[in-house]
Amino acid sequence: MPEMISLEEARELVLSRVFALPVELVSLREAVGRPAAADLASDIDIAPFPHSAMDGFALRAAQIASASVESPVELDVIAEVAAGDVFEGSIAEGQCVRIMTGAPLPPDADSVVKYEVVGVVRGDGKTGSRVSFSNTTKQRSNVREAGEEAKAGEIVVRSGEVIGNAGVGFLAGCGVTSVPVHRRPRVAIISIGSELVDADEVPSYGKIRNSNAYALAACAAAAGAVPVRLPIVRDSLEALQTQVERCAAEYDFVVTSDGASNGDFDFIKPAIQGAGELLMSTVNMRPGKAQAFGVVNATPVFGLPGNPAAAYLGFELLVRPALRKMQGFSNFERPRVKARLSEDFKKKDPRRIFLRSTLTKGEDGLYVVAPAKNQSSGLFGVIQRSNCFAVMSEGAGVREAGSVVECILLDVSEDVVI
Ligand code: AMP
Ligand code: MG
Repeated sequence: MPEMISLEEARELVLSRVFALPVELVSLREAVGRPAAADLASDIDIAPFPHSAMDGFALRAAQIASASVESPVELDVIAEVAAGDVFEGSIAEGQCVRIMTGAPLPPDADSVVKYEVVGVVRGDGKTGSRVSFSNTTKQRSNVREAGEEAKAGEIVVRSGEVIGNAGVGFLAGCGVTSVPVHRRPRVAIISIGSELVDADEVPSYGKIRNSNAYALAACAAAAGAVPVRLPIVRDSLEALQTQVERCAAEYDFVVTSDGASNGDFDFIKPAIQGAGELLMSTVNMRPGKAQAFGVVNATPVFGLPGNPAAAYLGFELLVRPALRKMQGFSNFERPRVKARLSEDFKKKDPRRIFLRSTLTKGEDGLYVVAPAKNQSSGLFGVIQRSNCFAVMSEGAGVREAGSVVECILLDVSEDVVI
């Protein structure tokens, strides 16, 4: 195992060890935002029959081919057909049918003229009235055709396509009421550290609250997974390895935080090694180069660093793509934009640095990015107030105000095009 690998290599390695989970059938409500796990076909034509797109009068275009303002054509209204009704009678010369939006086009008609342009000569415009047309109409005008959007048996949503709010409406129309999707990964969230206390306790001197577990559980849920926060594990190799083994057997993915470096009490690497196979230990990125990954009992186990910003970044860049792949997503890149730096940035570390930053749009419509003043990797509040990571590429040196840097947008779906 190489000591340090690039972020790209790390992403590839992690993705090569995770697979789409088994398929389950879920309701349309539960399918929203998830990729379909199979091609889905309609059982009927959409629309199922030709129908009127307007409230108006159904007729044959030829009947009013000579109509003009100077010499209108008059027709008798012989019936009314509402949405849900069917008019199966015939329409003779000199006749038309009053029709509502959504009602099937009578078999004898080939066009609909909307109410607003039709004059009433006698009656109230309903059955028994006489109406006049001062304009011609085209065949199929104001008609929505059968099979316009899909034919019976046609695939309407492809495997891998992410189902949106409109998508479930479309599928409902197509008679698909349960959708095959990949199961959501159940993710064990384990915080390691003898200094940790639960969030509902006031920590005594020397202790801190277990903030990571809450943020990582939120990140896992946002990635579509089902997180379970497990009890804090103290800094003991035996306790940690036991918990990792147990969770690898019970969950689809195990995420730990802290204990990923080489300190005297850093045990996630030997725990993964002892229980399974350790595949990665260090990634060339800042914050958070200590990113451990391995497989235990065929279950991916990811050892994030302890520092909040380092753990958050590791999750964002390496764990989130894995959780998405397990659900059948194929797009793993958050939207990125190019922005001008708001001020000089003195880059001392040659590693690629991800600066917690705020992106705004200037008056000229161009993006400006302001890195947070405090880039300590121990802080969550800074990420809370940021909306992107500004990527400072490899190499040391000053990045001058106004120079263009790439920014990864936080909390914006991979499918959004900016
Ligand atoms: P690292 O250098 O990656 O081992 O990070 C250690 C730092 O992260 C220490 O200051 C820890 O107290 C802190 N830390 C570890 N676990 C957590 C946690 N669950 N929540 C908040 N901070 C943590
Ligand atoms: Mg520790």
